[in-house]
Amino acid sequence: MNPALFLDRDGIINRRRVDDYVKRWEEFEFLPDIFGLLPKAHAAGFVVIVVTNQRGIARGLMTEQDLAEIHRQMQQELQQRTGHRVDAIYHCPHGRADGCDCRKPKPGMLLQAAAEHNISLAESWLVGDSESDVQAGIAAGCRAVLVDAAAPTSTVAETVAESVATTLASAWKYINTHATRGKSQNLISSKHQ
Ligand SMILES: [Mg+2]
Ligand SMILES: [Zn+2]
Repeated sequence: MNPALFLDRDGIINRRRVDDYVKRWEEFEFLPDIFGLLPKAHAAGFVVIVVTNQRGIARGLMTEQDLAEIHRQMQQELQQRTGHRVDAIYHCPHGRADGCDCRKPKPGMLLQAAAEHNISLAESWLVGDSESDVQAGIAAGCRAVLVDAAAPTSTVAETVAESVATTLASAWKYINTHATRGKSQNLISSKHQ
């Protein structure tokens, strides 16, 4: 069984579009920390899995095909720039009223990923920029770090995450030093590199 690093997409891998969705590749803007994180997470033994709510599909603003094309381009650029790609991408296309099991804060995407990728959820982590991400991670039995650029002045006291980081890079630092099970020996030694 492998530990996973579950990553939210919008606000973690790419810039979140306020009151909008990333509907085509031209609207996708990488946040820089992902390029450093991906090789390190793989070297530390994590399976890296994206779990993303994409309600724009339910709202008819984009199609499944549009999303697949965005993710194809995302993977291609990650490969070009880091030599790594994320190991899987799960998305929820549903709306708030659809009552699905996959839309975060529900843990459905993480549970499906665990079954399909031989993941040990108790050794896995979720990193997201919304409390609903953190709640999905905790509900799945993972540990979670909230990324909040405005911390500590924002309302992070409300979070159920075990740590709040201002960037993805600092979230990774926390995970790398606090992962205590599974491949922890690799994790602990890699921090000195
Ligand atoms: Mg997000
Ligand atoms: Zn769903």
